[in-house]
Amino acid sequence: GFRMGIVGLPNVGKSTLFNALTRTAAAQAANFPFCTIEPNVGEVAVPDARLETLAAIAGSKQIIPTRMTFVDIAGLVRGASKGEGLGNQFLANIRECDAIAHVLRCFEDGDITHVEGRIDPVADAETIETELMLADMESIERRLANLARKLKGGDKDSLDQDRLLRQALAALEAGKPARSVTVSEDDSRNWRLLQLLTSKPVLYVCNVEESCAANGNSQSARVAEMAKAQGAATVVISARIEEEISQLAAEEAEMFLEEMGLHEAGLDRLIRAGYELLGLQTYFTVGPKEARAWTITKGMMAPQAAGVIHGDFEKGFIRAETIAYDDYVAGKGESGAKEAGKFRVEGKTYEVKDGDVLHFLFSG
Ligand code: GDP
Repeated sequence: GFRMGIVGLPNVGKSTLFNALTRTAAAQAANFPFCTIEPNVGEVAVPDARLETLAAIAGSKQIIPTRMTFVDIAGLVRGASKGEGLGNQFLANIRECDAIAHVLRCFEDGDITHVEGRIDPVADAETIETELMLADMESIERRLANLARKLKGGDKDSLDQDRLLRQALAALEAGKPARSVTVSEDDSRNWRLLQLLTSKPVLYVCNVEESCAANGNSQSARVAEMAKAQGAATVVISARIEEEISQLAAEEAEMFLEEMGLHEAGLDRLIRAGYELLGLQTYFTVGPKEARAWTITKGMMAPQAAGVIHGDFEKGFIRAETIAYDDYVAGKGESGAKEAGKFRVEGKTYEVKDGDVLHFLFSG
């Protein structure tokens, strides 16, 4: 599955947010055996109202949302790349993530110490980014030195790696993160395999005080401006509120949200923003037993999408029977959609669309 790493300076609200994410009723609604995999790793249900609609139409006994993994990564402080704080363990944790949710303290609260002694989320973002850039430079130099020995043989993979690492290093030396490098379609896989910390997409999470949860504050506005300049995304959230909501039953939570002037839980927005950031989309499988959502990356063809369910589905893929979500709802189910001529049979080169209701036929 897809992993989102929660990073930030100490005392900005990472753990509060992580606990809210993984303890919320929604996170535990689906009976997946592992909600909290490790103390700092949790699986979260991706909220999607379409799934309930489909289940109601098909009379599905069970609803199984798709999941995303969040990792609470502590230990990032100024000097972290030189082994301050928790040393290098957290760098390995970040490396394994597909994207980064960077929590920034935008709340004032005299009782809670800020490690840098002042509230300045833009400066904090730079502090963390600098540490990640230094860590990337160090690891690139180490890898280039190792590659130098292999290059004599001149195999293509090593040459490619060497070239991409040098491109990244040039950007970093110019003070820019690795994500500022544009790579070709052909290079994109090798580029991802480099797992550079600053090549991962970033979502800034502005943690504001309770009273500002609906509209943010002047600090979160500064972050939004910075994010815009970087082409990054921003979400405004109050970790404290989310923590409270996570302990409420669904109806109570809804009333509480309304009182706070919020339309939906910040966590739902956060999860969806992460989904967006990672270029993910959802398709559905629907039947009397269960209605289930599956995550794929945009642009995936039907066989790869089938492979998310099971490897054999991809290997033995024959065809996909498809109904678009809107057609399924308009037809009040499969037979209605069929009568309306909205039932399609698609082959190996079909690019799955967000919301497709799919049934795969495969041999094996
Ligand atoms: P971490 O070190 O980044 O994981 O930070 P924590 O989640 O442990 O939070 C540090 C302290 O800040 C805790 O005492 C939290 O209760 C408090 N805190 C977190 N979010 C908020 C918030 O939105 N408002 C206020 N006032 N305090 C918060």
